[in-house]
Amino acid sequence: MKVLLVFAHPEPRSLNGALRDVAMKALEAQGHEVRVSDLYAGGWKSEIDRADFPSLETDTRFMPVAASKRAFETGALTEDVKTEIDKLLWADMLILQFPLWWFSMPAILKGWVERVYAYGFAYGVGEHSDKRWGDRYGEGTLAGKRAMLIVTTGGWEEHYSTRGVNGPIDDLLFPINHGILYYPGYAVLPPFVAYRVDGLDEAGFERAAERLRERMRTLESTPPIPYRQQNGGDYLIPSMELRPELGEPGATGFALHLNGADEGSETSGQRSPLQVAAAR
Ligand code: FAD
Repeated sequence: MKVLLVFAHPEPRSLNGALRDVAMKALEAQGHEVRVSDLYAGGWKSEIDRADFPSLETDTRFMPVAASKRAFETGALTEDVKTEIDKLLWADMLILQFPLWWFSMPAILKGWVERVYAYGFAYGVGEHSDKRWGDRYGEGTLAGKRAMLIVTTGGWEEHYSTRGVNGPIDDLLFPINHGILYYPGYAVLPPFVAYRVDGLDEAGFERAAERLRERMRTLESTPPIPYRQQNGGDYLIPSMELRPELGEPGATGFALHLNGADEGSETSGQRSPLQVAAAR
């Protein structure tokens, strides 16, 4: 497989840097071809602004969506963005690696998504009608490829459990897994999360490294998170609401968008549907 790892940590000697090296070594040992986009080392520009659209006339009002659409259609995106798009098209597997900062990804990585996910490439794709609402959520330019997150957290695993004060990790990562990766078509694997890493000792590092090696060895066989396909019949169009007969009665929240969320007993206990899916 061809693997693109997008790395978002400012310090190569960090724990994240060490885990990246572990992942790359394990992938290469499996015969996978690996490329890395090291955002800090490469001086990635994280904010979208006019400079991203040099062909926009100076007196034209800057509208990011329209500018992105036009630049993508006319091949006028900036070279750094085009390079990343080419890498995404090249890769069979995308890995986003980052420390959890304020319950999300570091700003530089969010900026990578905002700039690289151009209109016509990652969104605004496909037919919009009374039968389809674009090619997204399981369909789209990147369909047929896999993706996953490698995340480290200061907080404990319990803090991110279904009753933990930080909120369940599956919920916190849902906007990334579902909103950023599944949206343009990726099959999204359960994330690799290393919890409580501040002050990690050598034995703790080795345990995390071994878990990560195992995930890298099983990239091709790990079942993806079973998100519902937008155009698969589960959602009403155009409201895009889940059909009333699906999901457990009264259930709300992100887990509704998993196939199997209406199966009842298996998903209603301590473990979240994603944890149940990941354990399969
Ligand atoms: P580092 O600081 O580089 O290392 C962590 C520990 O691992 C160190 O003690 C280091 O000695 C040790 N270590 C063991 N082996 C190795 C090795 N081989 N190489 C390198 N180091 C090793 N946490 C949350 O849970 N939720 C949040 O919302 C959150 N928000 C944050 C916001 C900001 C702005 C910041 C700075 C931190 C936040 N944190 C949060 C904590 C953050 O997630 C952790 O600090 C981060 O995940 C640690 O990863 P690192 O690569 O920076 O680790």
